[in-house]
Amino acid sequence: MSSRILLVEDEPGLIMTLSDLLSEAGHEVETARDGEAGLAKASEGRFDLIVLDVMLPKMTGFEVCRRLRESGADFAILMLTARSALGDRVGGLQIGADDYLTKPFEPPELLARVQALLRRVGKENRLGITAFRFADVVVDFERAELLKNGQPVSLAGKEFQLLRYLIDNRRRVVTREELLTNVWEYSGDVASRTLDVHIAWLRQKLEANPQSPRHIHTVRGTGYRFSP
Ligand code: CA
Repeated sequence: MSSRILLVEDEPGLIMTLSDLLSEAGHEVETARDGEAGLAKASEGRFDLIVLDVMLPKMTGFEVCRRLRESGADFAILMLTARSALGDRVGGLQIGADDYLTKPFEPPELLARVQALLRRVGKENRLGITAFRFADVVVDFERAELLKNGQPVSLAGKEFQLLRYLIDNRRRVVTREELLTNVWEYSGDVASRTLDVHIAWLRQKLEANPQSPRHIHTVRGTGYRFSP
């Protein structure tokens, strides 16, 4: 199936090689040659995936990635890092990249990563983000780990699933029924007090001031809304 891919890269040779490769694989490819242009295109276009070089003129790939995630962009992001330094990899994943590839790489390897990411996106029918950052919190969905201010916070399974659902549906109001159906797989009138209790626990663990939450908002009479 054809996907829309944005390639943000400044090396002309690589732009040509990768554009051809991705087009031949049946994808629609657009390109941007610096960080600012990449951010602008990504913000207005409907893309399934962005291949984002870290070292770019005008704005680094890290900055582009961070800004996109902060604005709620939820397409897959594959970062191209210049070296194998762990710092680059961890940094990229913490700011919301889904995967990374270290330069130099063989073009078929990039295609394989792209196809794997697109499959994951399609299968989960959502963005399939593997990590998400907001305020001083980093959530690693693959390892089911959460760091607040660099310190691990322990979450029960349902708390984690609830947080995941809220993050996947960030910025929109999710109703109580929706949460009970999707997170608890309840239908009908099971005591929805369970939901309030779990929301309270999440706030205790994640909010600076649980009495006056900045991220997990109550929408009276309806449900909740998560804002990063
Ligand atoms: Ca570059």
